[in-house]
Amino acid sequence: MERNHEEFERLMMRIVDGVGTPEERAAFDSHAEECEECRGELADFQELKSGTDALRQRILASARLEAIRPGRAVRGLQAVSFGLILAGSLLLAGLGGYHFFTSEALLSVKLGTGAVGAGLLLLLTWLLAVRLRGAGQDPYKEIDR
Ligand SMILES: [Zn+2]
Repeated sequence: MERNHEEFERLMMRIVDGVGTPEERAAFDSHAEECEECRGELADFQELKSGTDALRQRILASARLEAIRPGRAVRGLQAVSFGLILAGSLLLAGLGGYHFFTSEALLSVKLGTGAVGAGLLLLLTWLLAVRLRGAGQDPYKEIDR
């Protein structure tokens, strides 16, 4: 049935994708008995399809293994922790400033303690700025399907 060969090539794609009806499958099979080219192409396409299906399964499996975004409880815990650290740091900085001028400790001790405190405050300020900039934005929004 040489005149129908192109028609069967289109039918082949439906069979490879698993959407062909039993009638289409039977029609294709009876053509493929006589047509070596269609038999070979069907085998090639089915091999390609099983390869891409396996790749798809691997991609989905590794997506499931990837770290999931932190839940509401974890984000709440982070916010509380951050607030406590911020409040404690400000309290200690105020107390340190007071003692810097009133205590009789060595000037080198005062300067060393003040430098460490100032460094921690700068780091905290930077963290706060980063958090505020990212507030309300979902970093995973772009990769959601
Ligand atoms: Zn054929």
